[in-house]
Amino acid sequence: MAEPGIHLPELLLVEDDPGQLRLMKSIVKGEGVNVHTATNGQQAFDVAQRISPHLIISDICMPHMDGLELCRRLRSVELERVAHIALTSVNTSPRQLSDCLEAGADLFLPKPFAPADLRSSIKSGLRLHEIYRRLTNAAHTDPLTGLSTRAQFDLDAQKEHERARRHALKLSCVVLDADFFKKVNDTYGHAAGDAVLREIARLVSEQLRQTDICCRFGGEEFCALLPETGIDGARRWADRVRESIERTSVHFNEWQLRVTASIGVSELSDGCESPADLFHKADEALLLAKQTGRNRVKTYRDVIAAETAQLAGCADAAADSFWDLPAGDVMSTVVATLSPDDTLQTSAELFLRFRINAAPVVDEHGALLGIVSEKDVMSRMTRPGGWQMQACEAMNASVISYPESTPIRIIHAFLCRAGIRRVLVMRGSVPVGIIGRATILRGYRNWQHSTESQSTSNAPLQSLCSVVDSITRQADEIRDCLTREQADPTAALIHGTSRIQELSKDLLTAIKDEQSASEAVIAD
Ligand code: GH3
Ligand code: MG
Ligand code: MG
Ligand code: MG
Repeated sequence: MAEPGIHLPELLLVEDDPGQLRLMKSIVKGEGVNVHTATNGQQAFDVAQRISPHLIISDICMPHMDGLELCRRLRSVELERVAHIALTSVNTSPRQLSDCLEAGADLFLPKPFAPADLRSSIKSGLRLHEIYRRLTNAAHTDPLTGLSTRAQFDLDAQKEHERARRHALKLSCVVLDADFFKKVNDTYGHAAGDAVLREIARLVSEQLRQTDICCRFGGEEFCALLPETGIDGARRWADRVRESIERTSVHFNEWQLRVTASIGVSELSDGCESPADLFHKADEALLLAKQTGRNRVKTYRDVIAAETAQLAGCADAAADSFWDLPAGDVMSTVVATLSPDDTLQTSAELFLRFRINAAPVVDEHGALLGIVSEKDVMSRMTRPGGWQMQACEAMNASVISYPESTPIRIIHAFLCRAGIRRVLVMRGSVPVGIIGRATILRGYRNWQHSTESQSTSNAPLQSLCSVVDSITRQADEIRDCLTREQADPTAALIHGTSRIQELSKDLLTAIKDEQSASEAVIAD
């Protein structure tokens, strides 16, 4: 016998009168639904949280919690499915109908009802669910390849990650990117490119087990999570996929198109705290695969090994290279943080006052929770109530961060490649600095300046006058601000002082160079 009702829609009947409940059960029998029952609102709420029913038909007048309250409670929580709710009552006053709709019901069924009415209400609820199912399906399936979309993948990845953590299981992540794909489009047209992408998706799918999850991550990039698979198994899997892509030619019009793919692999035990982290590390490995010639598989361990070798090489050759500096020496100090319950209005004020474009959100111990950027505020401020939305709701929780000892080359490589504008620099769990593209440009410019002045021997110190002038201007502004008796001069003071700090750094670098240049002259 098949498992009873395993794929049938779940119907929850809620009624405190045992006779009436029996009657309802007998009416809905044979309607193709899996029936659950509850005898009051509280019990129904508990069942609903457990099974997330497709349909609920509930009496209004019941002990403990009535049908209206049940409806309100159900609408205030997020269940896997949005239930279609019909409420029933002998009270058929016009007020009753509006109360039902206000509480979140979809339908009011006056009592006593004919069996046909009950069946019709089930049919109408199931019709709505079918529409909902098709829409969800469309949102979760990439139309070109039939694979999951990134939205669906993110949901599945979260679940797999939690499961792997809870049961100490292995979990690997594979990121695949077609090589020189732009050329395919440019040479044969977009339709040819689409045909190749469909074929890549088919070849990847061929290698998937039932429990693996896979998506088109975007463009010509694909991502798979392999549960209960360690790095060695994942690498072998990725190599099979890579080989099959290399071997296959796609017939399009009169052409036989061939492409290759580069693949990066990471696993949970690479120190991944979140699915985003797992993906990020596989993406680092993908970058290495691209940098070392494409059409190959690299793991995150390969990335570490390459970095270690590179650092060891640098230690002998040029220990004083800018790229070896620790992040802590290059970063801009965090001047302002947000608490989780600060509003977007507060965030915007902070950005404007400190002239920054992002701020970390921290808990009461200063530990990092996420980051809110200008863009996060911009995209939410037009929504109703958006201005008052809390930072914890608007923040991006999967922040890319690096310990302050990380060599700047690693952060530079990441910022060059990623769409992300900045990373946080951490001392333990506390964000202490931010490095964006400008931070690296500035740091490098100062470093470059130092090597130039070393090679051209003593550059005149007068050339630093413009930096000193800027410091003086900032100091004047601070003095003005202190004497103007502003309501809250803190923001302007912090801004001015940090600016002086940065300018002083520029000055120190230059003076250091002068000094080493003159020392060199003396040594001669
Ligand atoms: P690399 O080896 O460094 O990855 O080079 P690439 O050319 O593959 O990478 P790049 O990021 O420069 O180009 C990706 C190309 O993928 C550009 C874009 O037009 C193409 N692409 C993205 N999505 C689609 C799509 O849905 N259909 C088609 N035909 N092309 C797409
Ligand atoms: Mg009742
Ligand atoms: Mg790409
Ligand atoms: Mg590519």
